[in-house]
Amino acid sequence: MTKTRSAVAIYARISQDRTGEELGVKRQLQDCRAEAERRGWTVAQEYVDDDISAYSGKKRPEYERMLRDIAEGRRDGVIVWHMDRLHRRPIELERFAEICGHAELRDVVTPSGDVDLVNGDGLLMARLLAAVAANESNAKSRRISRKSLEIAQSGRPTMGGPRPFGFLDDRVTHHPAEAPVIRQLTRRALAGETLISLVTWLQDKGVTTTQGKEWRTNTVRTVLTNPRMWGMRVHQGQVIGKAVWEPIITEDEGERLRRKLLDPARRTNRSARRYPLSGMLECGKCGNRMHSHPRGQYRRYGCLKGPDSRGCGGIFIYAERLEEFIAEAVLYRLDSPELHRTLTEDTTAPEEARALEEAIEADAAKLNELAEMWADGEITRAQMKTMQSRVEARLETNRRAFSRLTHPADAAEYIGQGQELRAKWHTLNLSQQVAIIKAVLHKVTILPATTPGRHGLDPNRVVPEWRL
Ligand SMILES: [Zn+2]
Repeated sequence: MTKTRSAVAIYARISQDRTGEELGVKRQLQDCRAEAERRGWTVAQEYVDDDISAYSGKKRPEYERMLRDIAEGRRDGVIVWHMDRLHRRPIELERFAEICGHAELRDVVTPSGDVDLVNGDGLLMARLLAAVAANESNAKSRRISRKSLEIAQSGRPTMGGPRPFGFLDDRVTHHPAEAPVIRQLTRRALAGETLISLVTWLQDKGVTTTQGKEWRTNTVRTVLTNPRMWGMRVHQGQVIGKAVWEPIITEDEGERLRRKLLDPARRTNRSARRYPLSGMLECGKCGNRMHSHPRGQYRRYGCLKGPDSRGCGGIFIYAERLEEFIAEAVLYRLDSPELHRTLTEDTTAPEEARALEEAIEADAAKLNELAEMWADGEITRAQMKTMQSRVEARLETNRRAFSRLTHPADAAEYIGQGQELRAKWHTLNLSQQVAIIKAVLHKVTILPATTPGRHGLDPNRVVPEWRL
């Protein structure tokens, strides 16, 4: 990763992003120059396109000039602030990758991660990274939205989203009916009543959420642990000071509610579902399965050492970005030409299916053999039964696996639906998401980190093995 490069291109582009805020070219250039310096690379040329959306398909003169320089072998690396600055449309990426491939330019880097466009998988990864990066840059611009931060710091409420329970439409005045309900819920919860019992109580009283829906345990938990209820202003999930409204319950009650309702020990049965990739990740060092291994408040997957897991303990990866990335990969895969080809061309059975087929045939032959041995008096009936049941169990497992492989019925209903699924992905519950992921993805190998300590996801560490 730290190879010396002496004629690197920096590319920057100004564009309106979806939140209507623009990320200044200056800032992009600063970040890219810093990245070059960090790597010890020499920048030969900076290319800047201004005010032209990569989406519109209009010509980008500087981008074209950079491509010519790459094609003529005058550049040995590209630094770009985000992949979405380079391309928005797949066809542009294909062309870019082809030109880089011919010129043997492998190093396309962003301050947040590397992409190897010449390597076959790298291209897919670049597309996914671009998709993820687009989301990220959205989130980032929202995060740095000065205005909402200013409002938050003044303690005033934001008006977006549904009205918070307990408050009137101005989000400051207590709701005459709902505020007492919150105080009731607080007393009951602190007295040890379970969330299920609180939900039942609310339903019996006919109290609904501000959107007219029935309460669930998680919505009750969310309301009761929201610092808004004890007069705190929350911004981007963080308490940033006192709010302008009066508290409904005391701060002490609020803190006790948080300890009680957010105590991880209460939620052990949920932890399995909080790690949707559990059992699908394989350690790239020792081949063991990776499991949930949180550090502090951060969810991680890890290869675990010790007598129970027998892993090497050598690989960890943060969960959130990885899960986003894999979901994106799966949704992309569902719409990919490769997948359609796989399904329509019906090429020779994949290796795994062939191996299973052989195992099934071998076991079927073994059953015959056992019957013959018993008939010939070589084994007793009891011995035959024992061996038979062992072979039959294995046979059954293999048959089921074989039919899963050859009749991917689960996946069939999702194929070609990547776009639609993407639009509603976050409304699906975790088990629905897992079902879709498992229909397409066999497993994912996680390789060791090459850039320790850096935040974000390095897509080169993620090696998917597709079921189809
Ligand atoms: Zn391991």
